[in-house]
Amino acid sequence: MNQKSSTLLEEILQGNRRAMAKAITLLESTNPESFEQGQELLDSLLPHTGKALRIGITGVPGVGKSTFIEAFGLFLIELGHRVAVLAVDPSSPITGGSIMGDKTRMKELSQHPDSFIRPSPSSGVLGGVARKTRETVLICEAAGYDIVFVETVGVGQSETLVDSMVDLFMLLMLPNAGDELQGIKKGVLELADLILINKSDGVQESQAITTQSEYRKAMQLLSSSKNSWEPQILRCSALEKQGMDTIWEAVKNFREALQNSGEWEKQRRNQSEKWMWTLVEEGLLNNFHKNKIIQKTITEMEKSVVSGEILPANAARKLLEMWQSIKK
Ligand code: GDP
Repeated sequence: MNQKSSTLLEEILQGNRRAMAKAITLLESTNPESFEQGQELLDSLLPHTGKALRIGITGVPGVGKSTFIEAFGLFLIELGHRVAVLAVDPSSPITGGSIMGDKTRMKELSQHPDSFIRPSPSSGVLGGVARKTRETVLICEAAGYDIVFVETVGVGQSETLVDSMVDLFMLLMLPNAGDELQGIKKGVLELADLILINKSDGVQESQAITTQSEYRKAMQLLSSSKNSWEPQILRCSALEKQGMDTIWEAVKNFREALQNSGEWEKQRRNQSEKWMWTLVEEGLLNNFHKNKIIQKTITEMEKSVVSGEILPANAARKLLEMWQSIKK
Protein backbone atom coordinates (compact mmCIF):
# COMPACT_ATOMS: atom_id res chain seq x y z
CA MET A 1 0.00 0.00 0.00
CA ASN A 2 1.43 3.38 -0.95
CA GLN A 3 1.80 6.38 1.36
CA LYS A 4 -1.31 8.11 0.03
CA SER A 5 -3.49 5.08 0.67
CA SER A 6 -2.17 4.45 4.14
CA THR A 7 -2.78 8.10 5.09
CA LEU A 8 -6.34 7.72 3.79
CA LEU A 9 -6.72 4.56 5.84
CA GLU A 10 -5.55 6.30 9.00
CA GLU A 11 -7.89 9.22 8.40
CA ILE A 12 -10.86 6.92 7.89
CA LEU A 13 -10.11 5.05 11.10
CA GLN A 14 -10.12 8.41 12.86
CA GLY A 15 -13.60 9.06 11.47
CA ASN A 16 -12.62 11.81 9.06
CA ARG A 17 -15.64 12.40 6.82
CA ARG A 18 -13.67 13.88 3.95
CA ALA A 19 -11.46 10.81 3.86
CA MET A 20 -14.57 8.63 3.84
CA ALA A 21 -15.97 10.52 0.88
CA LYS A 22 -12.65 10.16 -0.91
CA ALA A 23 -12.61 6.41 -0.33
CA ILE A 24 -16.19 6.06 -1.55
CA THR A 25 -15.27 7.99 -4.70
CA LEU A 26 -12.48 5.47 -5.30
CA LEU A 27 -14.92 2.57 -4.94
CA GLU A 28 -17.33 4.20 -7.35
CA SER A 29 -14.63 5.07 -9.85
CA THR A 30 -14.73 3.71 -13.38
CA ASN A 31 -10.98 4.30 -13.70
CA PRO A 32 -9.41 0.82 -13.21
CA GLU A 33 -6.45 2.19 -11.26
CA SER A 34 -8.57 4.18 -8.80
CA PHE A 35 -10.98 1.28 -8.51
CA GLU A 36 -8.11 -1.09 -7.66
CA GLN A 37 -6.84 1.39 -5.09
CA GLY A 38 -10.31 1.45 -3.53
CA GLN A 39 -10.43 -2.34 -3.32
CA GLU A 40 -7.00 -2.43 -1.71
CA LEU A 41 -8.11 0.13 0.83
CA LEU A 42 -11.22 -1.90 1.56
CA ASP A 43 -9.07 -4.95 2.21
CA SER A 44 -7.02 -3.14 4.81
CA LEU A 45 -10.16 -1.71 6.44
CA LEU A 46 -11.72 -5.13 6.82
CA PRO A 47 -10.43 -5.89 10.34
CA HIS A 48 -12.18 -2.74 11.53
CA THR A 49 -15.59 -3.55 10.05
CA GLY A 50 -18.65 -5.52 11.05
CA LYS A 51 -19.44 -3.85 14.34
CA ALA A 52 -22.37 -1.65 13.32
CA LEU A 53 -26.03 -2.38 13.57
CA ARG A 54 -27.15 -2.35 9.95
CA ILE A 55 -30.75 -1.28 9.44
CA GLY A 56 -32.65 -1.32 6.14
CA ILE A 57 -35.54 1.12 5.71
CA THR A 58 -38.17 1.11 3.01
CA GLY A 59 -41.61 2.52 2.27
CA VAL A 60 -43.43 4.28 -0.55
CA PRO A 61 -42.38 7.85 -1.42
CA GLY A 62 -44.10 10.26 0.94
CA VAL A 63 -44.47 7.80 3.81
CA GLY A 64 -41.92 9.81 5.78
CA LYS A 65 -38.65 7.93 5.42
CA SER A 66 -36.38 10.95 5.53
CA THR A 67 -38.39 12.60 8.32
CA PHE A 68 -38.16 9.35 10.25
CA ILE A 69 -34.44 8.80 9.70
CA GLU A 70 -33.81 12.37 10.79
CA ALA A 71 -35.88 11.97 13.98
CA PHE A 72 -34.62 8.48 14.83
CA GLY A 73 -31.04 9.32 13.86
CA LEU A 74 -30.96 12.38 16.13
CA PHE A 75 -32.54 10.33 18.91
CA LEU A 76 -29.75 7.75 18.57
CA ILE A 77 -27.02 10.39 18.44
CA GLU A 78 -28.46 11.81 21.64
CA LEU A 79 -27.90 8.37 23.19
CA GLY A 80 -24.25 8.53 22.13
CA HIS A 81 -24.37 6.64 18.83
CA ARG A 82 -22.87 7.65 15.50
CA VAL A 83 -25.23 7.35 12.58
CA ALA A 84 -24.59 6.82 8.87
CA VAL A 85 -27.32 6.98 6.23
CA LEU A 86 -26.86 5.40 2.79
CA ALA A 87 -29.37 4.95 0.01
CA VAL A 88 -30.05 2.40 -2.71
CA ASP A 89 -32.13 4.12 -5.31
CA PRO A 90 -33.43 1.86 -8.06
CA SER A 91 -34.78 4.63 -10.27
CA SER A 92 -32.77 5.70 -13.25
CA PRO A 93 -31.21 9.16 -13.52
CA ILE A 94 -33.47 9.80 -16.52
CA THR A 95 -36.75 9.30 -14.65
CA GLY A 96 -35.32 11.17 -11.67
CA GLY A 97 -34.31 9.64 -8.38
CA SER A 98 -37.03 8.73 -5.94
CA ILE A 99 -34.63 9.12 -3.08
CA MET A 100 -32.72 12.33 -3.13
CA GLY A 101 -30.05 11.62 -0.61
CA ASP A 102 -28.90 15.18 -0.60
CA LYS A 103 -28.44 17.44 2.31
CA THR A 104 -31.78 19.20 1.91
CA ARG A 105 -33.46 16.14 3.33
CA MET A 106 -32.57 15.34 6.93
CA LYS A 107 -31.29 18.85 7.36
CA GLU A 108 -30.53 18.75 11.05
CA LEU A 109 -29.10 15.25 10.97
CA SER A 110 -26.83 16.00 8.03
CA GLN A 111 -25.30 18.94 9.89
CA HIS A 112 -24.56 16.92 12.98
CA PRO A 113 -20.88 16.00 13.46
CA ASP A 114 -21.89 12.46 14.47
CA SER A 115 -23.72 11.71 11.24
CA PHE A 116 -22.65 10.77 7.75
CA ILE A 117 -25.12 10.92 4.87
CA ARG A 118 -24.41 9.60 1.41
CA PRO A 119 -26.83 9.60 -1.53
CA SER A 120 -27.32 6.54 -3.70
CA PRO A 121 -24.55 5.85 -6.21
CA SER A 122 -26.17 7.11 -9.39
CA SER A 123 -24.38 5.14 -12.05
CA GLY A 124 -24.94 1.64 -13.25
CA VAL A 125 -27.50 -1.07 -12.80
CA LEU A 126 -29.13 -1.94 -9.50
CA GLY A 127 -26.59 -4.70 -8.84
CA GLY A 128 -23.73 -2.23 -9.19
CA VAL A 129 -25.44 0.29 -6.96
CA ALA A 130 -25.92 -2.41 -4.32
CA ARG A 131 -22.28 -3.41 -4.54
CA LYS A 132 -21.05 0.12 -3.92
CA THR A 133 -23.50 0.58 -1.05
CA ARG A 134 -22.37 -2.66 0.56
CA GLU A 135 -18.77 -1.49 0.40
CA THR A 136 -19.72 1.93 1.72
CA VAL A 137 -21.26 0.24 4.78
CA LEU A 138 -17.80 -1.18 5.53
CA ILE A 139 -16.18 2.24 5.24
CA CYS A 140 -18.73 3.70 7.64
CA GLU A 141 -18.07 0.92 10.13
CA ALA A 142 -14.31 1.38 9.94
CA ALA A 143 -14.87 5.08 10.59
CA GLY A 144 -16.68 4.25 13.82
CA TYR A 145 -20.32 4.61 12.79
CA ASP A 146 -22.14 2.06 14.91
CA ILE A 147 -25.56 2.47 13.30
CA VAL A 148 -25.88 2.35 9.53
CA PHE A 149 -29.19 2.94 7.77
CA VAL A 150 -29.64 1.77 4.21
CA GLU A 151 -32.71 3.39 2.71
CA THR A 152 -34.64 2.35 -0.39
CA VAL A 153 -38.08 2.82 -1.96
CA GLY A 154 -40.85 0.25 -1.77
CA VAL A 155 -40.76 -1.25 -5.21
CA GLY A 156 -39.74 -4.87 -4.67
CA GLN A 157 -36.40 -5.74 -6.20
CA SER A 158 -34.30 -3.20 -4.35
CA GLU A 159 -35.67 -4.38 -0.99
CA THR A 160 -34.32 -7.86 -1.55
CA LEU A 161 -30.90 -6.38 -2.29
CA VAL A 162 -30.97 -4.14 0.76
CA ASP A 163 -32.18 -7.04 2.89
CA SER A 164 -29.09 -8.97 1.86
CA MET A 165 -26.83 -6.35 3.45
CA VAL A 166 -28.62 -5.43 6.70
CA ASP A 167 -29.32 -7.07 10.05
CA LEU A 168 -32.80 -5.66 10.52
CA PHE A 169 -35.36 -4.49 8.01
CA MET A 170 -37.91 -1.76 8.77
CA LEU A 171 -40.97 -1.02 6.69
CA LEU A 172 -42.69 2.34 7.05
CA MET A 173 -46.40 2.48 6.29
CA LEU A 174 -49.07 5.12 6.03
CA PRO A 175 -52.01 5.11 8.44
CA ASN A 176 -54.61 4.08 5.84
CA ALA A 177 -54.66 0.32 5.75
CA GLY A 178 -56.88 -0.43 2.78
CA ASP A 179 -54.74 1.26 0.17
CA GLU A 180 -51.48 0.24 1.69
CA LEU A 181 -52.23 -3.44 2.02
CA GLN A 182 -52.64 -3.43 -1.72
CA GLY A 183 -49.74 -1.10 -2.46
CA ILE A 184 -47.00 -3.01 -0.72
CA LYS A 185 -45.94 -6.30 -2.19
CA LYS A 186 -46.35 -9.36 -0.03
CA GLY A 187 -42.67 -10.18 -0.49
CA VAL A 188 -41.67 -6.84 1.03
CA LEU A 189 -43.98 -7.40 4.00
CA GLU A 190 -42.35 -10.75 4.60
CA LEU A 191 -38.89 -9.16 4.75
CA ALA A 192 -39.93 -6.71 7.45
CA ASP A 193 -38.75 -7.27 11.03
CA LEU A 194 -40.41 -4.08 12.20
CA ILE A 195 -43.40 -2.42 10.59
CA LEU A 196 -43.85 1.19 11.60
CA ILE A 197 -47.15 2.94 11.01
CA ASN A 198 -45.90 6.49 10.62
CA LYS A 199 -47.90 9.74 10.82
CA SER A 200 -49.71 8.49 13.89
CA ASP A 201 -50.56 12.03 14.94
CA GLY A 202 -53.42 14.53 14.86
CA VAL A 203 -56.47 13.41 12.92
CA GLN A 204 -54.64 10.40 11.54
CA GLU A 205 -53.89 8.85 14.91
CA SER A 206 -57.11 6.84 15.27
CA GLN A 207 -56.70 5.55 11.74
CA ALA A 208 -53.14 4.55 12.57
CA ILE A 209 -54.39 2.55 15.55
CA THR A 210 -56.87 0.70 13.35
CA THR A 211 -54.17 0.06 10.76
CA GLN A 212 -51.83 -1.26 13.41
CA SER A 213 -54.34 -3.87 14.54
CA GLU A 214 -55.20 -4.80 10.95
CA TYR A 215 -51.55 -5.39 10.21
CA ARG A 216 -51.15 -7.44 13.34
CA LYS A 217 -53.87 -9.72 12.00
CA ALA A 218 -52.47 -9.73 8.47
CA MET A 219 -48.95 -10.55 9.63
CA GLN A 220 -50.14 -13.70 11.37
CA LEU A 221 -50.90 -15.09 7.94
CA LEU A 222 -47.44 -14.34 6.62
CA SER A 223 -44.32 -16.30 7.38
CA SER A 224 -41.58 -14.56 9.32
CA SER A 225 -38.16 -14.25 7.70
CA LYS A 226 -36.43 -14.99 11.03
CA ASN A 227 -36.63 -18.01 13.32
CA SER A 228 -35.98 -16.17 16.57
CA TRP A 229 -38.13 -13.08 15.97
CA GLU A 230 -41.78 -12.37 15.26
CA PRO A 231 -42.22 -9.13 13.27
CA GLN A 232 -43.64 -6.29 15.34
CA ILE A 233 -46.03 -3.59 14.27
CA LEU A 234 -45.51 -0.24 16.01
CA ARG A 235 -46.80 3.30 15.54
CA CYS A 236 -44.82 6.52 15.44
CA SER A 237 -44.89 10.12 14.39
CA ALA A 238 -41.63 11.05 12.75
CA LEU A 239 -42.82 14.65 12.47
CA GLU A 240 -43.52 14.99 16.17
CA LYS A 241 -40.63 12.71 17.09
CA GLN A 242 -42.99 10.35 18.94
CA GLY A 243 -42.38 6.64 19.39
CA MET A 244 -38.61 6.69 18.89
CA ASP A 245 -37.88 5.13 22.29
CA THR A 246 -40.32 2.25 21.72
CA ILE A 247 -38.78 1.58 18.31
CA TRP A 248 -35.28 1.60 19.74
CA GLU A 249 -36.36 -0.85 22.45
CA ALA A 250 -37.76 -3.15 19.76
CA VAL A 251 -34.53 -2.90 17.76
CA LYS A 252 -32.48 -3.80 20.82
CA ASN A 253 -34.80 -6.73 21.62
CA PHE A 254 -34.43 -7.89 18.04
CA ARG A 255 -30.66 -7.78 18.27
CA GLU A 256 -30.65 -9.62 21.58
CA ALA A 257 -33.02 -12.33 20.37
CA LEU A 258 -30.99 -12.98 17.22
CA GLN A 259 -27.65 -12.83 18.97
CA ASN A 260 -28.81 -15.24 21.66
CA SER A 261 -30.10 -17.75 19.14
CA GLY A 262 -27.02 -17.46 16.92
CA GLU A 263 -29.17 -16.27 14.03
CA TRP A 264 -27.38 -12.92 13.93
CA GLU A 265 -23.99 -14.41 13.10
CA LYS A 266 -25.56 -16.97 10.82
CA GLN A 267 -27.32 -14.26 8.84
CA ARG A 268 -24.08 -12.29 8.45
CA ARG A 269 -22.22 -15.39 7.31
CA ASN A 270 -24.94 -16.25 4.80
CA GLN A 271 -24.90 -12.71 3.49
CA SER A 272 -21.12 -12.83 3.00
CA GLU A 273 -21.25 -16.16 1.26
CA LYS A 274 -24.06 -15.06 -1.02
CA TRP A 275 -22.19 -11.85 -1.75
CA MET A 276 -19.07 -13.76 -2.77
CA TRP A 277 -21.11 -15.81 -5.21
CA THR A 278 -22.82 -12.74 -6.61
CA LEU A 279 -19.39 -11.30 -7.38
CA VAL A 280 -18.14 -14.55 -8.89
CA GLU A 281 -21.21 -14.81 -11.11
CA GLU A 282 -20.91 -11.18 -12.10
CA GLY A 283 -17.22 -11.63 -12.95
CA LEU A 284 -17.81 -14.75 -15.01
CA LEU A 285 -20.64 -13.17 -16.92
CA ASN A 286 -18.58 -10.05 -17.59
CA ASN A 287 -15.71 -12.12 -18.98
CA PHE A 288 -18.12 -14.09 -21.10
CA HIS A 289 -19.65 -10.97 -22.60
CA LYS A 290 -16.26 -9.33 -23.17
CA ASN A 291 -15.00 -12.14 -25.40
CA LYS A 292 -15.08 -11.13 -29.06
CA ILE A 293 -15.87 -14.60 -30.46
CA ILE A 294 -18.66 -15.08 -27.95
CA GLN A 295 -20.05 -11.62 -28.72
CA LYS A 296 -20.33 -12.49 -32.40
CA THR A 297 -21.92 -15.86 -31.71
CA ILE A 298 -24.37 -14.37 -29.20
CA THR A 299 -25.75 -12.11 -31.92
CA GLU A 300 -26.14 -15.06 -34.28
CA MET A 301 -27.70 -17.28 -31.64
CA GLU A 302 -30.16 -14.63 -30.54
CA LYS A 303 -31.37 -14.22 -34.10
CA SER A 304 -31.72 -17.97 -34.58
CA VAL A 305 -33.58 -18.40 -31.31
CA VAL A 306 -35.98 -15.55 -32.10
CA SER A 307 -36.69 -16.90 -35.60
CA GLY A 308 -37.27 -20.37 -34.17
CA GLU A 309 -34.40 -22.00 -36.07
CA ILE A 310 -32.83 -23.29 -32.91
CA LEU A 311 -34.14 -24.10 -29.45
CA PRO A 312 -33.02 -21.78 -26.61
CA ALA A 313 -31.49 -24.73 -24.76
CA ASN A 314 -29.42 -25.74 -27.78
CA ALA A 315 -28.25 -22.19 -28.34
CA ALA A 316 -27.20 -21.91 -24.70
CA ARG A 317 -25.33 -25.24 -24.91
CA LYS A 318 -23.49 -24.12 -28.05
CA LEU A 319 -22.43 -20.87 -26.42
CA LEU A 320 -21.24 -22.62 -23.28
CA GLU A 321 -19.32 -25.25 -25.26
CA MET A 322 -17.68 -22.52 -27.26
CA TRP A 323 -16.75 -20.70 -24.03
CA GLN A 324 -15.25 -23.88 -22.64
CA SER A 325 -13.11 -24.49 -25.71
CA ILE A 326 -11.91 -20.87 -25.67
CA LYS A 327 -10.90 -21.24 -22.03
CA LYS A 328 -8.84 -24.41 -22.64
P1 GDP B 1 -40.18 10.08 2.08
O1 GDP B 1 -40.49 10.37 0.67
O2 GDP B 1 -40.63 8.72 2.49
O3 GDP B 1 -38.75 10.34 2.46
O4 GDP B 1 -41.09 11.09 2.96
P2 GDP B 1 -40.72 12.48 3.67
O5 GDP B 1 -39.96 12.24 4.92
O6 GDP B 1 -40.15 13.39 2.66
O7 GDP B 1 -42.17 12.97 4.12
C1 GDP B 1 -43.21 13.24 3.21
C2 GDP B 1 -44.19 14.21 3.83
O8 GDP B 1 -44.83 13.62 4.95
C3 GDP B 1 -43.53 15.49 4.33
O9 GDP B 1 -44.39 16.56 4.05
C4 GDP B 1 -43.42 15.27 5.82
O10 GDP B 1 -43.45 16.47 6.56
C5 GDP B 1 -44.64 14.44 6.11
N1 GDP B 1 -44.45 13.57 7.29
C6 GDP B 1 -43.42 12.75 7.52
N2 GDP B 1 -43.57 12.13 8.70
C7 GDP B 1 -44.73 12.56 9.23
C8 GDP B 1 -45.45 12.29 10.44
O11 GDP B 1 -45.03 11.51 11.30
N3 GDP B 1 -46.64 12.93 10.61
C9 GDP B 1 -47.15 13.79 9.70
N4 GDP B 1 -48.32 14.35 9.95
N5 GDP B 1 -46.51 14.07 8.56
C10 GDP B 1 -45.32 13.49 8.32
